[in-house]
Amino acid sequence: MSEASCVFCKIVRGEIDATLLHRDDGLVAFRDLSPKAPFHALVVPTRHLETLDELEEGDADLVGRMLLRGSALAREQGLTGGYRLVLNCGPDGGQSVFHVHLHVLGGRRMTWPPG
Ligand code: AMP
Repeated sequence: MSEASCVFCKIVRGEIDATLLHRDDGLVAFRDLSPKAPFHALVVPTRHLETLDELEEGDADLVGRMLLRGSALAREQGLTGGYRLVLNCGPDGGQSVFHVHLHVLGGRRMTWPPG
């Protein structure tokens, strides 16, 4: 999928609506359109990267910032009982939107293993 047609790139560029929770020079966070938990947000890099497999050594800071932002969002939501951060990679990993994103899920007790 190209950057021009990528739905998350369109959110980053403000071309389609989303409920934004955070924006900085490298990351955007917004509510998931089809929440799988009472709180469900996505943290995405502003740069178009299709899957985790495109990440390189030089992206270590970006990935760390994604995780820290996910935890910060959970804290802001008062998820003191815990939360789940999820990264799906590729079709077998359950990825449906091919722009790297971190799921932040909380507000209910999660089960394990995931489906
Ligand atoms: P994944 O299956 O890991 O690729 O997750 C993609 C997520 O993106 C799903 O949870 C979808 O509900 C969510 N999603 C798809 N389109 C949008 C959108 N326009 N705004 C917000 N979330 C979306």
